[in-house]
Amino acid sequence: MAGSRRPGRNFLFVPGPTNIPERVQRAMIVPSEDHRSSAFPELTLPLFEETKKVFKSREGQIFLFPATGTGAWEAALTNTLSPGDRVLAPRYGQFSTLWIDLARRVGLDVEIQDEEWGTGANPERIEEALRADREHRIKAVLVVHNETTTGVTSDIGAVRKAIDAANHPAMLYVDGVSAIGSIDFRADEWRVDCAITGSQKGLMLPAGLGLVCVSKRALEAAKTAECRRVYFDFNDQAKANATGYFPYTPALPMLYGLREALACVEDEGLENVFARHRRLADGTRAAVKAWGLTLCAKDPKWHSDTVSAVMVPEGINGAEIIDIAYRRYNLALGAGLSQVAGKLFRIGHIGDLNELMLLGALAGVEMAMQDAGIRITPGSGVAAATEHFRNTREG
Ligand code: PLP
Repeated sequence: MAGSRRPGRNFLFVPGPTNIPERVQRAMIVPSEDHRSSAFPELTLPLFEETKKVFKSREGQIFLFPATGTGAWEAALTNTLSPGDRVLAPRYGQFSTLWIDLARRVGLDVEIQDEEWGTGANPERIEEALRADREHRIKAVLVVHNETTTGVTSDIGAVRKAIDAANHPAMLYVDGVSAIGSIDFRADEWRVDCAITGSQKGLMLPAGLGLVCVSKRALEAAKTAECRRVYFDFNDQAKANATGYFPYTPALPMLYGLREALACVEDEGLENVFARHRRLADGTRAAVKAWGLTLCAKDPKWHSDTVSAVMVPEGINGAEIIDIAYRRYNLALGAGLSQVAGKLFRIGHIGDLNELMLLGALAGVEMAMQDAGIRITPGSGVAAATEHFRNTREG
């Protein structure tokens, strides 16, 4: 009879939660301590400053909520907008859909711009909508930087240019949940008013922190915004954070973990982290091409460096590949969500990983695809990825 133990490591290749580096795991094993002690700000005040670096922000203020990306979405909207305010939101995947749903449920009036799944935010259409809004009823533009459902990255710099070209005062809110800490993100340069992420992706931590980097303008808006919020109130948080405290009991191990995760990023170098993600993503894309398959992303300009969504051939259920990979090979892949359920599987290449880890996952994908009835040349994807890695260097 088969035993219950699965020897060796689980290969975690979902696009979040991601692998937690051992030094970060160790840093999180801490005894409880008094979060009102006079020493506590020695942890928190430098941590707020360090966290800003992954957002590339000097101007912004960081809020760390015991939440996830969804909580950070809600915090950004409810703190800075009032019921009935109009927001413009492109929709091109499950996460942009969910953010729009949340915006509606907190009372906002959402002007949706539907884009084909596999593409992303369209700066021309955004500019057009803003130009048409002569009365400036649109208060904010909400964009998902990296749509994790489809493996599509949108050009946030171009969205900023579109807002400026329309000469429109709308604020810019960006969901960077599967981008920040892995794909270049420039909160100050792009004048992002609320930049949002969660701890379990590029930051290589467990889920449990919702992070928002807030511009001066958005903080000002929080003084008069009327959407209801209590726990997530920026004003309460800012007051307590100013001296290194929280308005409630903070999740201490997460704060220690964050400090260590940021030290990992600093040790590797943020730009090197981006380059590593690009290289691993390129290796994955080389494998997909060698298998004769395609990505959900319609064009290379949409390619995501943190997740590849691989379309499965007609007649094959992507969910079966994922289940085989998990049960037979101890490999976790991301599922197709909503309108792409069954049509694709996702390979997350985000967080703390290297070439050989990824090659192991690609080998597992090949086996699972063959087991599910997809005819590929065995070893073709792995070979293409190894060639890419051998012929390119980091940095
Ligand atoms: N936004 C994006 C782009 C995501 O990928 C996710 C989760 O995967 C979320 C938002 C929701 O974040 P959370 O699950 O941390 O609430």
